[in-house]
Amino acid sequence: WRKLLAAVKELPSQTADGRVVEIAANIGTPQEIAKVQNVNADGIGLFRTEFVFMGRTELPTEEEQFEAYKQVLEGLPNKKVIFRTLDAGGDKELDYLGLPPEANPALGLRAVRLCFSRTDIFKTQLRALLRASVYGNLHIMFPMISGLEEFRQAKSMLNQAREELTRQGIACKQKVPVGIMVEIPAAAVMADVLAQEVDFFSIGTNDLVQYTVAVDRMNEQVAYLSDYFHPAVLRLISRVIEASHNAGKWTGMCGEMAGDPLATVLLTGFGLDEFSMHAGAVLEVKNLIRRIKTDEAQAYAKEAMKLGTSAEIRAYLQQIKQKYT
Ligand code: PEP
Ligand code: MG
Repeated sequence: WRKLLAAVKELPSQTADGRVVEIAANIGTPQEIAKVQNVNADGIGLFRTEFVFMGRTELPTEEEQFEAYKQVLEGLPNKKVIFRTLDAGGDKELDYLGLPPEANPALGLRAVRLCFSRTDIFKTQLRALLRASVYGNLHIMFPMISGLEEFRQAKSMLNQAREELTRQGIACKQKVPVGIMVEIPAAAVMADVLAQEVDFFSIGTNDLVQYTVAVDRMNEQVAYLSDYFHPAVLRLISRVIEASHNAGKWTGMCGEMAGDPLATVLLTGFGLDEFSMHAGAVLEVKNLIRRIKTDEAQAYAKEAMKLGTSAEIRAYLQQIKQKYT
């Protein structure tokens, strides 16, 4: 099994019938690059920049951030690296910001919402990212976007940061792909509209499940309801992928679901373009994808979508997975 996976490492990420997909990794620090290199992932589908902000007593400076982002890009030459802007607040607290406690932090001032209220923090990060952009294939992604206004507002701040740097004669790329996390049901429902303006989507199933099924992702008592195979979640996922393709854009997934081999056939059938997961899952998922034929996966996905419960869908996918292992 080990040997098989080692052999898979050097082979292209594509289905049995040759449809190319990307199998990328999720990381949060430059120190994790080695793990990504070890499994020869196609890139970073999610760099959680909040880790650069954590474990310290004050905000990282523009220079500190620039160095961290540059180090990641230089460690993965020619590979796509998607940097998600600060996703703090909610369950990811930064004590030094001194934010007042909220009754419902998951529904509160987190991610881009926090960045819009602290534009100093956001601007500094965007400058650091743009400065790093000249060192590799940098993509920028905004978390917790609920609709078009928020995307436009974030993008306009990015443009301001770029104009500022250009005026100051500081090197940065004039064009960087900009996408959003789809992790709020409103964004999934509006995917056709959002797809007109974003460069790509990445589905965050961890939060998408939390908000779709109304289960606090940190609450053990209702954890049994937290399931990305819930048919409502699957409908949203399939809708997002289809909407992006209709607009000539691509969709990735960086939530836990992307690294679950039980989901691989289904997501391939939906047409997912990029799977991003913890490095440990990359080779197994890649091995599976290389055995799947697109038309077969589409047929299985269609069957799965006729089922009404997560349990039935899981049982069905378990059966299908046997065929490929
Ligand atoms: C997600 O919500 O699925 C996601 C990838 O982001 P995080 O787990 O960091 O909230
Ligand atoms: Mg999230």
